[in-house]
Amino acid sequence: MSGGGEGRVVGNLITNPEAGIEVLHTPAGLKPPEMKKPVLVQRPCMYLASFVKSLPVLFILGIAGWSYYAYVVALVLGAMQDNLSEQVVCCVMYHIIFIMFIWSYFMTILTPPGKVSTSWMLSAGAVSSLAAAQTEEEWKTRLAAIAAEMGCRVKQRSVQGAVRYCEKCECIKPDRSHHCSVCEACTLKMDHHCPWVNNCVGFGNYKFFMLFLCYALSYCTFIAASSARHFAKFWSDSLSIGVAKYHVVFVFLVSILFSISVSSLFWYHVYLVLNNRSTLEQFRGPVFDDQTSDKDGWSLGHLNNFKEVFGLNPLLWPIPIPTHIGDGTNFPHRRAKNFTNYHSIGNSELSRPETPSRTLVNPILSTGGAVSASQTIHSNTTSVQHSGKASVMSGPLSPASPDYTSTEVVLDMNGTTRTTTVAINKDDLSELVIQ
Ligand SMILES: [Zn+2]
Ligand SMILES: [Zn+2]
Repeated sequence: MSGGGEGRVVGNLITNPEAGIEVLHTPAGLKPPEMKKPVLVQRPCMYLASFVKSLPVLFILGIAGWSYYAYVVALVLGAMQDNLSEQVVCCVMYHIIFIMFIWSYFMTILTPPGKVSTSWMLSAGAVSSLAAAQTEEEWKTRLAAIAAEMGCRVKQRSVQGAVRYCEKCECIKPDRSHHCSVCEACTLKMDHHCPWVNNCVGFGNYKFFMLFLCYALSYCTFIAASSARHFAKFWSDSLSIGVAKYHVVFVFLVSILFSISVSSLFWYHVYLVLNNRSTLEQFRGPVFDDQTSDKDGWSLGHLNNFKEVFGLNPLLWPIPIPTHIGDGTNFPHRRAKNFTNYHSIGNSELSRPETPSRTLVNPILSTGGAVSASQTIHSNTTSVQHSGKASVMSGPLSPASPDYTSTEVVLDMNGTTRTTTVAINKDDLSELVIQ
């Protein structure tokens, strides 16, 4: 996670305004000291660290294994033995949820969250050039020039207005990426590092993490609901299955406990997905190249935000296979003048058509007052029909208004087209003001 320390010059040390980490000032042309990563074999204590890191995963797997025994053996084959239909229904439903839960869990653990491409890594010469900067402004200018030379397109900036740079990985940080100190690497669209999956949750495995939470909640809720009746029997001493009855009691209590704890986390991430924010962005809104911070800068509307993570095919939404859209490096940006929707994720900006991407179909125009219009957002692959409010202004748009952003559209009025500029309410994308 990046810090927000003030950049400053202290003697011959220049701090990176993005990371707040001190950079050794070396003369231009000289390579900075090599930072060798420790090798596992050279540091035996890292075996212990790796084992400790995997303890939460072993704990979850242990709980899942015990719950399988408690539910299938003690409850279904024991407590439910006098009701065959209940046995069949519970056994089938349990195994479907259990398989999906374990599948999504392992996909979250084993899927790389997304690493920064080597094309974003600075050369030794570029690192030396950066380290030779005498002032913070010079450092920013050199970094911007290096990023442009490397062809790294970024819309996000540090709090100090610099292109975001990772000192440890020596790379330009793609939009929405952050450095994870546990993984010791920059993670694309980093959400957080999760000890329960012993992995970073980021662009590559966020869908799996969401499904893991969803199926974990379903698993616990299903166990609690289907074992409640037998749990009640325990207190009336009518649960005659010997010692196995204690498994029924504990599996009910544990499932209730986990249902409550997982539920809050799941619904919190549902909120984040629908608003296209990572956990880190929820805490601090991203700063863009126009030096404004906007938590909703990446938001494309609830449905499009959801599709960005889960893909376009609804049949594949509940399946833990990769269906997310984009490359993890470039993201559609609602604040840009050339507004694009999720269909164009991954498309090069240079390949976008010069013509406006929005068409207002048959707007009913009148001087002043609110009117209705139908808005169509075109993209290379499809179009999205959308109705919203529109109002007509007799005077010029006020670009200073912080609540509106302007974009170009084509007005199609019964076959007569004209290009004009409209202002879009940032808080309500369906509200347009036509100039
Ligand atoms: Zn990094
Ligand atoms: Zn991590």
